[in-house]
This record gives sequence, C-alpha cells and structure tokens, in this order.
Amino acid sequence: MKKFSLEGKVALITGASYGIGFAIASAYAGAGAVIVFNDIRQELVDKGLAAYEEKGIKAHGYVCDVTDETQVQAMVTQIEKEVGVIDILVNNAGIIKRIPMCDMTAEQFRQVIDVDLNAPFIVSKAVIPSMIKKGHGKIINICSMMSELGRETVSAYAAAKGGLKMLTRNIASEYGEFNIQCNGIGPGYIATPQTAPLREIRPDGSRHPFDQFILAKTPAARWGVTEDLQGPAVFLASEASDFVNGHVLYVDGGILAYI
Ligand code: NDP
Repeated sequence: MKKFSLEGKVALITGASYGIGFAIASAYAGAGAVIVFNDIRQELVDKGLAAYEEKGIKAHGYVCDVTDETQVQAMVTQIEKEVGVIDILVNNAGIIKRIPMCDMTAEQFRQVIDVDLNAPFIVSKAVIPSMIKKGHGKIINICSMMSELGRETVSAYAAAKGGLKMLTRNIASEYGEFNIQCNGIGPGYIATPQTAPLREIRPDGSRHPFDQFILAKTPAARWGVTEDLQGPAVFLASEASDFVNGHVLYVDGGILAYI
C-alpha cells in the first residue's frame, strides 16, 4: 500500500548501531527511506555501518552525544547539508540503571533523565524548525511500559519514560498545526543486549525470577524481538498515520493489558 511507503524520506534514528534502533532503521530502509543514525562512540558507529552494509543498506553514521545540545545542533546542520532535511526522527538512544532508588545517587538519576528525557527534547528541538519549513515531519519517541508503570530499581528510567510520554503529547499539541505528528512506541520486554542479563540461565539451570515473571505474565508467553517493533515504527513514520498524533503505541505482547 503506497501510504506505508517511506520512499525518499530522510530518517534519523538515534543510538541505532544495534538493537531496537537498528531494527527500526532496517525496516525504514526496506520501505524506501534514506537512513541516518548516530551513536555516542566512533567504535559503535563503525559497528553500525558494517551491520547496515551487511544488510545491503547504505546508511549515514555520525558520532554525537544526544545529551549535548551543541553536538546535536552541529550534527543536524551537517545532516541537512550532506543528506537532506530530516523528515522522520526516532528518539531511540536510551540508558537504564537498575538500582534501588534509595541506593541511587542524584548524579546517577540525572544521567538517566539526561539521555532518556532531555535528549529527545534536545534532538526534537533541533529538527522541528526545518520540518515546519518543509511542511511535514514525524517524530517517534521510544518510550517503555515504564511510561505507565513503576517497578523496583527503575525509578529514574520510569520517571524519564513517563516524562517522555508527556513530551510526546506536548510536541503533538504544540506542532500538530504544522503537520508534524509526534507519537511514541512503548516496547514491552524485548530481547536486546540491554535485557540480556535478565535472560541468562543460571548455573543450576533455573531462570532469573524476572524472566519467569515475563513468561508467566505476557499473554504472548515470550519476550519480544526487535522485529516486533518494525511494523508499528513504519506505520508511525508513514502517511498512513497522518491523523494519529500524541499517542503511545505499546508493543508488548499484551502484558500491559494483563498486569
Ligand atoms: P540501548 O538502550 O542499549 O541503546 C541504544 C544505543 O543508544 C546504544 O548504542 C547506546 O550506546 C546509545 N546511547 C546511549 N547514550 C547515548 C548518548 N548520550 N548519545 C548517543 N547515543 C547514546 O538499546 P535498546 O535497543 O535496548 O533500546 C533502545 C530504546 O528502546 C531505548 O530508548 C530503551 O530505553 C527502549 N526500550 C528498550 C526495551 C528493551 O527491552 N530492550 C524495552 C523498552 C524500551 P551504549 O551502548 O554505549 O550505551
């Protein structure tokens, strides 16, 4: 269906050398988009470029710390010069620190808020003016089930992802009149390096209690895979979602409906 095509669109996916961002970028390339990504270290960008090349995707990679407004502005200016105006932004880069709240330092809390909430603000702010001039834009914020829930050890992450849900709504209401749609995707528990420690089988053959919890509570009875996010991400980047604005689409195998 033509409405789902991203032919010729320039898509910037942050932190997309591997994991969820890489899967989303690969799907965008398959739908015809020109792929631009950044990561925090050269080594990660090189790893990403090699992985895209292996899939036959010609991606443009930049080193940029998304928490640094000066670096982000310079990267966006460079992308506009070298590739073109960004039509689609996916705020994907994220970190998590699993520490009980009372053991967490204020600095550790701030670091999580910086990457998971302040950075989407900084990058969105850098791309919106050109989107307004161009007459359209799509911003997709990678939220989390923790945008809705609280759990032990993820206070900063939940605060940031809850805030990101509200930033999503705010961008939608503030810039919707310029034909900019801003929506979120809330992945459930996805098998990525970030969640690998939770899936390790213990020396005695038992599973991590959290792994057991997920398998028991997810109606789909499995962890998600990064490919599960591709269809929703293409939909939210395409014309097919032009009247969808300010929402978070949870891609969670049904767990939020159950717990
Ligand atoms: P990661 O969260 O591990 O990170 C994605 C990339 O972002 C990594 O390459 C990371 O680098 C990079 N990054 C971190 N900080 C910065 C920074 N300041 N500037 C630029 N890049 C940075 O990958 P995932 O695929 O697991 O997660 C992607 C998104 O999905 C995140 O926002 C995450 O919170 C969200 N999410 C993930 C879930 C899951 O189950 N995996 C569930 C729900 C949401 P480095 O490797 O050095 O940290």
